[in-house]
Amino acid sequence: MAMHSYFLHLFLIVALGSVVTTHVSNPVVPSPLRPLLHLQGNLSFDDAPLAAKDFGNIYQLLPAAVLYPASVSDVVSTVQHVFQLGPRSKLTVAARGHGHSLQGQAQTDGGIVVRMEALGGGTRVVHQQHGGQPYADASGGELWINVLVECLKHGLAPKSWTDYLHLTVGGTLSNAGISGQAFRHGPQISNVYQLEIVTGKGEVMNCSEEENSELFHAARGGLGQFGIITRAQIALEPAPEMVRWIRVLYSDFTSFTEDQEMLISAKETFDYIEGFVITNRTGLINNWRSSFNPRDPVRASQFDSDGKILFCLEMTKNFNQHEAESMDQQVEQHLSKLRYLPSTLFQSEVSYLEFLDRVHASEVKLRSKGLWDVPHPWLNLFIPRARIKDFAREVFGKILRDSSSRGPILLYPLNRSKWDNRTSAVIPDEEIFYLVALLSSAPSHGSLEEALKQNRKILDFCNKEGIKMKQYLPYYTTQEEWRGHYGDRWEMFAHRKGIYDPLSILAPGQRIFHKAVQSSSSSIVIHPEANHVQG
Ligand SMILES: Cc1cc2nc3c(=O)[nH]c(=O)nc-3n(C[C@H](O)[C@H](O)[C@H](O)COP(=O)(O)OP(=O)(O)OC[C@H]3O[C@@H](n4cnc5c(N)ncnc54)[C@H](O)[C@@H]3O)c2cc1C
Repeated sequence: MAMHSYFLHLFLIVALGSVVTTHVSNPVVPSPLRPLLHLQGNLSFDDAPLAAKDFGNIYQLLPAAVLYPASVSDVVSTVQHVFQLGPRSKLTVAARGHGHSLQGQAQTDGGIVVRMEALGGGTRVVHQQHGGQPYADASGGELWINVLVECLKHGLAPKSWTDYLHLTVGGTLSNAGISGQAFRHGPQISNVYQLEIVTGKGEVMNCSEEENSELFHAARGGLGQFGIITRAQIALEPAPEMVRWIRVLYSDFTSFTEDQEMLISAKETFDYIEGFVITNRTGLINNWRSSFNPRDPVRASQFDSDGKILFCLEMTKNFNQHEAESMDQQVEQHLSKLRYLPSTLFQSEVSYLEFLDRVHASEVKLRSKGLWDVPHPWLNLFIPRARIKDFAREVFGKILRDSSSRGPILLYPLNRSKWDNRTSAVIPDEEIFYLVALLSSAPSHGSLEEALKQNRKILDFCNKEGIKMKQYLPYYTTQEEWRGHYGDRWEMFAHRKGIYDPLSILAPGQRIFHKAVQSSSSSIVIHPEANHVQG
């Protein structure tokens, strides 16, 4: 939404602020919302401006109210109520996880934001089910860091991660959830056994491979379009105590990517494999090695990047204290197959928790400098392996060189075979594809414009050159673009929307479907695949 419209909304709320409160008896609460004042949880009007913000800090949609649900039945009553109002009401419902979306995906213009973190319910570890495998039964609003801490008490941990853990279970499962373990275990959406979901009609449904499987597949990677995930059963494995964390550098892109691909395809390999690009624009040129020890301190201190673009391969090997020696041998063996610049081997050993929660340490630093709450014009792309060199040549060699936009750039391969192709997630049509994540920060107005211009150039280049990339955490504004994103899966996606959220109430901030609002004089007919697919 344009800033102008945001301020208009903000003005209206401020103007109404003196009379709109959360008290049940208050007569000025808009009548469609009054029934929600009787829920167990809290309906807040004061918090609406907070719910109009997200990590991206670029788009703001002001909701009418924010629900802090005390239970799943509050979520059910809210969605049911909005559903029953039918298409004469323009109310929509946006589940908000930790609000770490980038372009308003967890927001709603004039609707109800459901703060999923308030739902509670925590995490329960269940041993020996699902064919003998343990799992965590977690609330959809739980932060992954809390899931991890609870599981570690049982010597267990989820298998597949994101780089940053202060994100919610429901939020990442609505996208995919990827990190350096995905090459082995697949994304987080490949590592859930069962979901509890409140659909767009306000029904609670349990779904899994065996039960309501269509909803199970639709909701995983479904951008919140089919229901609100209130619980998830997450696959676990024994947690290691420690990790050996390794970084090595390459100046040659081909050797870098060939080594990455060799590692993700090998049987005996590391437990986590990522990589990033280092230019003097990424802010990493001097600190990529901070808190790592060089294998060869003398040669390492002589290493000079010479202003070149470098590529950092990042890997870990998990181990328990008593296995340190054999871990060491395995690491040596894996490293011996790589072609990195000899003086650039850097290592460190940290606890598993410290490694998985590593980005939080950067968050604390950036917050202390006032650099966390700035706009984040991020661009995340999946690039097919066949075109990654063309992409790198143009983007790193030209577009980024000519732009002053700054931020880390992740680049690592993933394998399609680890993704369940029945989910709603969209990936390129090649067995190996790369995540390229351009994680720009824009502390000033000019830098936001610059980064958005850079993103546009990259997307235009991909289109012009016929690089069949897919956006991860996709952002599109027209239905034509969404159809292009889903390709031949669009019909199924829209069909499932018609079944589970026929009025297009849920997750309007994704801008895929728009609630069709009828005037009160027209007759109301709800079709299972109703009028929800306008551009
Ligand atoms: C610092 C940072 C690091 C990140 N690192 C990674 C990474 O390594 N890998 C990765 O895959 N992603 C990563 N992400 C992206 C992240 O996965 C998405 O931004 C995700 O949407 C954020 O989760 P959230 O809980 O804040 O969800 P929100 O932003 O609150 O919501 C995201 C979408 O899901 C919907 N939604 C939220 N909760 C639910 C629910 N319970 N049920 C149904 N729909 C729901 C919302 O309506 C919205 O449409 C990162 C983001 C940040 C800010």
